[in-house]
Amino acid sequence: MNMLLPTSTAGSLPKPLWLAQPETLWSPWKLQGEELIEGKQDALRVVLHDQQQAGIDIVSDGEQTRQHFVTTFIEHLEGVDFQKRETVRIRDRYDASVPSVVGAVSRPKPVFVEDARFLRAQTDRPIKWALPGPMTMIDTLYDGHYKSREKLAWEFARILNQESKELEAAGVDIIQFDEPAFNVFFDEVNDWGIAALEKAAEGLKCETAVHICYGYGIKANTDWKQSLGAEWRQYEEVFPKLQKSSIGMVSLECQHARVPMDLIELLRGKKVMVGAIDVATDVIETPEEVADLLRKALQFVDADKLYPCTNCGMAPLSRRVANAKLRALSEGAALLRRELTA
Ligand SMILES: [Zn+2]
Repeated sequence: MNMLLPTSTAGSLPKPLWLAQPETLWSPWKLQGEELIEGKQDALRVVLHDQQQAGIDIVSDGEQTRQHFVTTFIEHLEGVDFQKRETVRIRDRYDASVPSVVGAVSRPKPVFVEDARFLRAQTDRPIKWALPGPMTMIDTLYDGHYKSREKLAWEFARILNQESKELEAAGVDIIQFDEPAFNVFFDEVNDWGIAALEKAAEGLKCETAVHICYGYGIKANTDWKQSLGAEWRQYEEVFPKLQKSSIGMVSLECQHARVPMDLIELLRGKKVMVGAIDVATDVIETPEEVADLLRKALQFVDADKLYPCTNCGMAPLSRRVANAKLRALSEGAALLRRELTA
């Protein structure tokens, strides 16, 4: 990217009401078959338009092509039985009924490559595509086959690498792996989590990113955040090793987070997508608030490596709120950009 402070979003954006129930996380599709394919494409066009109107520089599909950021990808794989369900604890936080790994996992055909090609054809701006990271994938499944979190993560990394290479060939500029699990399983992250992530990104020439956050503004996550105390130092556990990794960019939650900003120093040298928009509230940030947070981040990230972003996805918000937050992000970044170039 040649421009200073290019803006983007961390992930999902609200879906139009004719595609899925708004302000609801993981809501089922309202369309089927051919109508669903067309509906997703139309929704993608709408959220692309909204991002561009708001002045977002690096655009995405806003996850209009998926119901859930992890399971939609896994649904396309072989070796996972969605009928055979077991209850497991997700990120040590809440119980959920999840599908089972019943055999060797593989990707019989590309998952999002056609969707990415469609997005590429609609815009000249750089595009970012999100995939679940290996550790977050295994944390959303019951494994009755490999019986080893590490081994299963390694298999998923191999599959993610196949998908990533095809996304890159389809014209994706940044491939982002979502790893909220990195904020929970520190020992595993350092033992094999980052290695699995590097395997997923192996050989890519496009930009690679990892998104680590404290989750959507749903109750299980906000309750968990309440339990974390006055300072959130989770990032401190994984940043040193991430700094040495081959992953180029790190996407973080910073707005209204109790994360000490100086932890970002541990990533010095990496490009950092600084979350300057809180996705857990309908209150719209002012451009000045966004600029203030980014200005603080500049103490720990070189200006040419600072990427203003949202804390996480905005799927559960109304379209009105999400669009206003996109504008605040882009106007806040513009304020600071003017200061830096004055
Ligand atoms: Zn997130």
